[in-house]
This record gives sequence, C-alpha cells and structure tokens, in this order.
Amino acid sequence: MSFTDRQLVEYLPQAQARWQRALMERRRLSTAERLLRARRCSYCASWSDMSATHCAGCRRRFTVADDTEWDATVSRASATVAEAEAVLADLARGVMLERLNGVSHG
Ligand SMILES: [Zn+2]
Repeated sequence: MSFTDRQLVEYLPQAQARWQRALMERRRLSTAERLLRARRCSYCASWSDMSATHCAGCRRRFTVADDTEWDATVSRASATVAEAEAVLADLARGVMLERLNGVSHG
C-alpha cells in the first residue's frame, strides 16, 4: 500500500486525532476501572477495598448515604467502561472518528 503526498496530508491529521482519541478513551477506561476496584471516602478521599465497611484512611464507617453514592458511582463507571471499550473497539476496526463523535454521548 502506498500513499500519494496528498493522501498523506489528509491521512496524518486524522491518524493523529484517532490516536489521541484512543489515548483519551484508555484514560477514561483506567479511571473508571479504578473506581470499580476501590471505593473512595467522601470525607477524607482515601481509597478503600470495595467490600470494606470502614474507610482505610479515617476509619469512618461507611453510611447508607455512602453506599447509595457508591452504587451511583459503580453504575456510572460501568457505563463509562462499556462506552470507552466500544469506542476503542470501533477505532481498532477503523470506524471513522466523525461517526464515533456522532454516536458518543459525552
Ligand atoms: Zn475516610
């Protein structure tokens, strides 16, 4: 496969944009995966084990409100993981960035 100069000029910025998009999605993915592996204390911001009943940082007991917030975080993070994985799969398949942007919801 060979490119003319003109094709290269058109292709390179798009390749760079795809690469940056993939990097961004991987960052979103790892942040969301971290949220799914550990829970964060709303009081001291320490990370604790998912099944922990007390904060690893300040030893405060997680409350019902914390659990509710945690549930919301988990469902948001799960949605983010699914979305980022779908975009990365599309990028790997060569789906055009413009089409991805058309279907993305944030
Ligand atoms: Zn804490």
